[in-house]
Amino acid sequence: MQKINPKIINSCRDCTARCCRGLAVVLTIPETLRLVAATGERAEEVIEFRRDVDSRATPHYPLLVRTEKGVEEWFIIIRRQKRDCIFLNGDLSCSIYHDRPFVCRIYPFELDGKTMKKGALCPVKFVTEPNIEFDAARLKKDLFLHEVMARRWSHERGSKGERPDMRAFAVYFKA
Ligand code: SF4
Ligand code: SF4
Repeated sequence: MQKINPKIINSCRDCTARCCRGLAVVLTIPETLRLVAATGERAEEVIEFRRDVDSRATPHYPLLVRTEKGVEEWFIIIRRQKRDCIFLNGDLSCSIYHDRPFVCRIYPFELDGKTMKKGALCPVKFVTEPNIEFDAARLKKDLFLHEVMARRWSHERGSKGERPDMRAFAVYFKA
């Protein structure tokens, strides 16, 4: 990727928070538990299960839910009001900035297998920074743990044939 003067780039100031207003923020299970604890809210008030996530655009392992129709793929995302993340303030700042998920920390870069690619939605030319690589490495660790926890939850849940319920999910993981 071509490098450009950091004084000109790496700034979100002139953007209308496109990423926070247009993208589903997909969480790992460990992140979900941390975020619920950090906000002090009930899990179902800040997090939800969704199926309408493009699984090709996220490295997150889906939660597999068995129904009488077969196996469905669900993802955990931060709740949204219309298309806006519920943690986006009126001045376009993030109300959970210090606890924001890894996908937010590394955006506009996204994990693509073992490497990172630039998110197409972002209009600014960024260069990678050392802390982005650090957060990406932490996300990879989280994703590994997430997959193990998701498989266990899915297996123990069995064939209930119901939509996944965030309250029951939080109880299961003692969130
Ligand atoms: S958690 Fe914060 S940074 Fe992430 S999408 Fe929401 S408002 Fe934006
Ligand atoms: S990361 Fe890109 S899309 Fe998101 S607020 Fe910054 S400039 Fe806008």
